[in-house]
Amino acid sequence: MSQTELFSAPSVPPTPDRQAGLERLKAFTPLMGRRYATQRNFDFGPEDRSNISMLSAHVRHRLVLESELAQAALNAHGLQAAEKFIQEVCWRTYWKGWLELRPSRWSEYKSELSQALNALGEDDALRRRYEAACEGRTGLDCFDAWVSELMQTGYLHNHARMWFASIWIYTLELPWVLGADLFLRHLIDGDPASNTLSWRWVGGLQTAGKTYLARASNIEKYTGGRFTPDAGALAHDAPPLDPALQHPAPQTLAAGETPDPDAPSLLWIHEEDLHAESWAAEKRDVRAVVYQAGPLPRGELALGACASRFTQQALEDGARRAGAHFGYTAQASAHIEDVIDAARSVGAKQILTQRPAVGPGLDRMPPYRAKLAQAGLTLIELRRSWDAAFHPYATKGFFKFKSAIPTVFDQLSLN
Ligand SMILES: Cc1cc2nc3c(=O)[nH]c(=O)nc-3n(C[C@H](O)[C@H](O)[C@H](O)COP(=O)(O)OP(=O)(O)OC[C@H]3O[C@@H](n4cnc5c(N)ncnc54)[C@H](O)[C@@H]3O)c2cc1C
Repeated sequence: MSQTELFSAPSVPPTPDRQAGLERLKAFTPLMGRRYATQRNFDFGPEDRSNISMLSAHVRHRLVLESELAQAALNAHGLQAAEKFIQEVCWRTYWKGWLELRPSRWSEYKSELSQALNALGEDDALRRRYEAACEGRTGLDCFDAWVSELMQTGYLHNHARMWFASIWIYTLELPWVLGADLFLRHLIDGDPASNTLSWRWVGGLQTAGKTYLARASNIEKYTGGRFTPDAGALAHDAPPLDPALQHPAPQTLAAGETPDPDAPSLLWIHEEDLHAESWAAEKRDVRAVVYQAGPLPRGELALGACASRFTQQALEDGARRAGAHFGYTAQASAHIEDVIDAARSVGAKQILTQRPAVGPGLDRMPPYRAKLAQAGLTLIELRRSWDAAFHPYATKGFFKFKSAIPTVFDQLSLN
């Protein structure tokens, strides 16, 4: 059977709502087995994404859940045949867990980024090279095409992301944090953990002794000959970057907070988790639903248009479904004061939300918690059982983490 008979893949990611994500999941499920394992590394271009799911933006905002991808793969293929697909889904979880245990890597990224942005103001030559890269004017056809694809669709194939990051660091010799920032702000799946740690991995900051070098022959092979870069135009080696700081040992995972079962509650939905129907909040006395009114900034510079649009529509879809599920019209909240007003108007004493992963969502929680406390409101950050079960295994490398997949699946009753 041909690829197109099996799955006719749209050239752009599916619409930012759960329904479209579930349809995509259903259509891609037959391909999650051996075919995914052998074909996933090919970047056939934006017109043909039939070999990969393109569900990352939905999963990143939890319009569709990791457990739903895993269960679909298990049902259709079993753990062995769908091993590769399931492992890829678990890479996201691993990166999130790894950063959760080591939040100082996120603080380090932010301060290095600030310094690099300042340096652009002081070093004209650096700024010109940076602008040429961001605008796809480097003269390297493949790189310039990926910039254009990123700006137009908010998406790049995994292999293209690896080549892009490697060329950025080793051929264009630009600071890695500026490239990571460009991705984070423009990718519709822009995710602090997967993005920062993948860039660190390419630059040799993540795994001792490992860097990633983009090779002309590899680009030609895995783009099916769409690009044939001149080997002489690309860097020939990839020495590890210097780690900036010594970091503390991994911290222990904070336990999820337990709500007061009888307290009148307000549900607060944000872009990190847009499936409130599975927060098990029906057991609580929910009096109102509010949602984050617009996308959060992901850095000092502006959020890309595709990422902004995707997140906005995803938020509205999450709010609509949560409102329908709990029997209220969800109210938009642009500031924490809106959450406080909404809670007061219905007599809520407790704010229920999902704990954001390390990144901009979590950064704003301490001041929010303090303001809520001043207003007599308790903030309860719930934690999904998927995260709670997997994250403690993110203490070392992915090899150890992936060996825990069958145990965790048993624990989560995924089989
Ligand atoms: C430099 C760099 C930056 C990246 N930045 C991000 C980012 O900001 N956000 C993001 O979601 N992913 C990021 N990735 C990981 C990966 O490229 C994307 O998750 C993947 O390309 C998404 O496409 P897909 O949904 O078709 O994946 P599929 O191949 O269909 O995989 C299924 C699911 O597994 C997960 N997944 C697959 N590959 C990876 C991976 N390498 N790491 C983590 N999870 C993975 C995703 O949730 C994905 O939806 C980055 C990778 C690199 C090399």
